[in-house]
Amino acid sequence: MPHKVTLIPGDGIGPEVAAATRRAVDATGVCIDWETAELTGRIIQECGSELPQAVLDSLDRTRVGLKGPVTTPVAGGFQSVNVALRKRLDLYANVRPVRNLPGLKTRYSGTPIDLIIFRENTEDLYAGLEHEVVKDVVTSLKVITRTASLRIARYTFDYARREKRKRITAVHKANIMKLGDGLFLRCTRETAAEYPEIEYKELIVDNAAMQLVLRPETFDVLLMPNLYGDIVSDLVAGLVGGLGIVPGANIGQNHAVFEAVHGSAPDIAGKGIANPTALMQSAVLMLGHLGEQQAAARLHAAIERVYLEGAALTPDLGGTASTDQFADAVVKAVKGVS
Ligand code: ATP
Repeated sequence: MPHKVTLIPGDGIGPEVAAATRRAVDATGVCIDWETAELTGRIIQECGSELPQAVLDSLDRTRVGLKGPVTTPVAGGFQSVNVALRKRLDLYANVRPVRNLPGLKTRYSGTPIDLIIFRENTEDLYAGLEHEVVKDVVTSLKVITRTASLRIARYTFDYARREKRKRITAVHKANIMKLGDGLFLRCTRETAAEYPEIEYKELIVDNAAMQLVLRPETFDVLLMPNLYGDIVSDLVAGLVGGLGIVPGANIGQNHAVFEAVHGSAPDIAGKGIANPTALMQSAVLMLGHLGEQQAAARLHAAIERVYLEGAALTPDLGGTASTDQFADAVVKAVKGVS
C-alpha cells in the first residue's frame, strides 16, 4: 500500500524546493501517492480564506503533509497560512532539529552542534488577538494555557526519553511575564518531575540567545513557548549554515505537516538557486513518521554525502549549483551511484 501524502508546494521558492524534494524522496523507492494541493497568496486572495477547502480535504484524507512556504503579507493582509494551519489541525508540537552538516564550513564548523527545539505551536502571541484600544494604541494578547503548556512539555519529555536525550532546557521570560511564562514554567517543572533521568534546566530567553551563540554545543533539547521558538529557531539555523538547511515538523494528534523553517524567500524565487536541503531534511522526518526508517536514513545519509563532497552546494552556502543540480546529486547518492 502506498503512503498518501499531501504535497503543498506553496509559493516563492516553494515550488522549486518541493519539486527537488519530491524527486529525492521518490529516489528512495518508498511508494508515495502524492496529492498535490495548491496553496499560494493568489489562491488565498481568490478564495478569501487562508485555508482553501481543497487543501484541508486533502490533509484529512492523507493525514500527512509536506509543505513548502507560503508568503505572509507584513503589517496587514491575510493571516499567516502556517499559523492558520497549525491552529486548524491542532498541530501543537513544532520540532526543529539543528545539527552541523559534515563538510560544510560555517562559523561553528568545529563545534559539535546537535540540538532540538520544541516549540509550542498553537498559542502565545500567535493567538492573533490584537485590538486597537483607541487610535494609535494597540494591545496584542499573549495567551498561555495550562493545557497547551502541559501538552508540549509531555511531548518533549516523551521524545527525550525515547531518543535518550540527556537534558531539557525550558526557555522563558518569567521574570517579566510572571503570570504567562510563569504558568508555562510551572507546567514544564511539573512534567520534569516525572522524568527524573532527564536533567531539567531553565534559562531566560535573552540569556539563552547569548549562550547559544557562545556555547551551542552545551545545548541538547530546548522547550519554549511559540514566539521564542520562532526567533530562537532562526538564531540556531544561523549557527549551522542558515535557513536553507534546517527542517521542521508540526505534529498533532491526527495530522502531521513537515516543512522547512525558512519562508518563501521572494528575493531569490524563480531563479533556480534556492537550497532544497531544509525541505529534504523535513522529508527525512516525514519518512520516519511514516515508519520508513530505512528510507529516512538513506535520504539523510545521501544529503550528508553531498555536503561532504562539497561539489554541488547552492549559492547560499558559497556554491554555484542550482536547486536542480543539488537535487541531482542527492538522487544519485540515494541510489548509491558515485
Ligand atoms: P518569513 O516571514 O516567511 O519567515 P522571511 O523573508 O523572514 O520570510 P525567508 O523567506 O526565510 O524569511 O528568507 C530570509 C533570507 O534567507 C532571505 O535572504 C532568503 O533568500 C534566505 N533563504 C531562505 N530560505 C532559503 C533557501 N531555501 N535557500 C537559500 N536562501 C534562503
